[in-house]
Amino acid sequence: MKDPEYDMRTLPSRATFVDTHCHLDMSDFEDDLANILDRALVQGVESIITIGIDLASSHRAIELARQHSCIFAAIGVHPHDVHSATEATYATLEALVTANHNLIVGYGEIGLDYVKKRSEPELQRQHFRRQLEIAKKLRLPVIIHDRDAHTDTLNILKECGPLPQGGVMHCFSGDMAFAEKIIDLGFYISVPGIVSFKNAHNLHDVARMIPLTSLLIETDAPFLAPHPFRGKRNEPSFVIHTATCIARLRDIPLADLAHATTANAASLFHFTPHEPPHSTPRS
Ligand SMILES: [Zn+2]
Repeated sequence: MKDPEYDMRTLPSRATFVDTHCHLDMSDFEDDLANILDRALVQGVESIITIGIDLASSHRAIELARQHSCIFAAIGVHPHDVHSATEATYATLEALVTANHNLIVGYGEIGLDYVKKRSEPELQRQHFRRQLEIAKKLRLPVIIHDRDAHTDTLNILKECGPLPQGGVMHCFSGDMAFAEKIIDLGFYISVPGIVSFKNAHNLHDVARMIPLTSLLIETDAPFLAPHPFRGKRNEPSFVIHTATCIARLRDIPLADLAHATTANAASLFHFTPHEPPHSTPRS
């Protein structure tokens, strides 16, 4: 692997990035969100998708998108939290989309988590199917969370498909064989900061080998900060480190990686990447 010099100052001025998955509504960010958005802009991270994990956080995600023109929202119920979701929850989420369609670009995160099992796996599968139907009805792309549940995730996506608006496997954690199956469904693969860890061999392979047309980048902030911030609070500006790492793995210019992943995000989530000024109020 070559190691060309990637210097942000040599980037073409129009090279921009999208952090397609973070949780800006979490309390980790309540004291310094304005600074975080400024730092993101300085690094060229001009559009950020903040992801709801339950009804309350979906409300907060929409509010953030209303307040900051660089932020877009996704709403849904995370597999950890489906034990508290009811049909009334889903009716409210649907109403939120209808009322805020200009701010909401995706449905999620939804899926299966067999590591922590904070909700029973069978209950997770029921709610996953239910939410895929809602996303289809709302004509929104889906944002999928899959931890140690590759086979069931793939089977349910196939069973509930086709999903005309497509989707993304967020924080991808499978190997290349699994990535190919996901791409065959027309889904994008979103690579998190874990790719910058030395021992993440499967993810290195995936980031290097999948078609550029299937690749998205994300932070999952405040979690999973990339090297050299591993263990610290993650934030959208750090997506640059993930992008740099993938560009090195693929031996392509960082500007090409930026251009492709930003175009992919705009195509999946149907937004026009934000142009500065950055954290201005939406009119
Ligand atoms: Zn997440």
